Amino acid sequence: MFVFGPVASRRLGLSLGIDLIGKTKICNLNCIYCELFKTKKPSIKREIFVKTEKVISELKNFLSKNQEIDFITISGNGEPTLALNLGKIINKIKKITSIKVAVLTNGILLSDKKVRNELKNADVVLPSLDAGTKETFLKINRAHPKINFDKFINGLIKFSKKYKEKIWLEVMYVKNINDNEKETYAIKKIIDKMKNIEKIQLNTVVRAGAEKYAKPVSLVKLKKLKKILGPKAEIIANFKGKKITQINDLKKQILSIVRLRPVTLNELKKEIKVNIIIIKKNLTELLRDKKIYKISHNKEIFFKAK
Ligand code: SF4
Repeated sequence: MFVFGPVASRRLGLSLGIDLIGKTKICNLNCIYCELFKTKKPSIKREIFVKTEKVISELKNFLSKNQEIDFITISGNGEPTLALNLGKIINKIKKITSIKVAVLTNGILLSDKKVRNELKNADVVLPSLDAGTKETFLKINRAHPKINFDKFINGLIKFSKKYKEKIWLEVMYVKNINDNEKETYAIKKIIDKMKNIEKIQLNTVVRAGAEKYAKPVSLVKLKKLKKILGPKAEIIANFKGKKITQINDLKKQILSIVRLRPVTLNELKKEIKVNIIIIKKNLTELLRDKKIYKISHNKEIFFKAK
């Protein structure tokens, strides 16, 4: 399955995910906070991981039964711009539905003219910028050795000047890594060179991820840093979009959510309007069938797909 959800997303409301990567995580970075956990071997090679026809036929199937979503979001099990058929898939989606298309990306490949061009028909692009300096970039994003920080930044700036739709830039703050004023001023300096940024979204670690030492930043601190980034900056608030109201197959629904990221019972409860006892019962069965497993992080229990 390459189409998953819909899931309630803090940034995009009710979002139907499209995974262009497939079963094994593939990324050009190995971020310390990654909710998909460690990248075994960062890769910079663009390839076709998932057949275009397969994705489009799954999407058509979903849309024939349900149109109640805010976004079709291209993301998935790693970095979607590594998928060579990214542009083709965006164009095909635009032909079959008027639902807006969002692309979540770490932004590294925006240095590639071809990738910038492939993204031109997306309605929103959500790139990341977690560091204003090369030192912090290496610490937090742990890029493939062939990735050059200055080239990445230039690509981000170039993309922002050409792309006609919305750009929502995410800054992920990690305690004692990039949560200081100096780094934030360096990030701001880069942002000031960009055009068409509609939102700067400040985020922090809320779930279990690649490294245990990647800890969240307090709200007080985020508020201080937000001031440096200016009026377009916002701290990503809790989900405000539509809720999932119809659940035919609860286990399938839970799996599609935990496949995206580790979630707590409370988060599942917020996303699925079903009695918590029923959710617990289904979680127990999924654990028993070894479809999911539990992780403990910051004194909370998270469920994750195998
Ligand atoms: S957070 Fe995104 S960019 Fe970073 S390693 Fe995970 S998938 Fe890759």
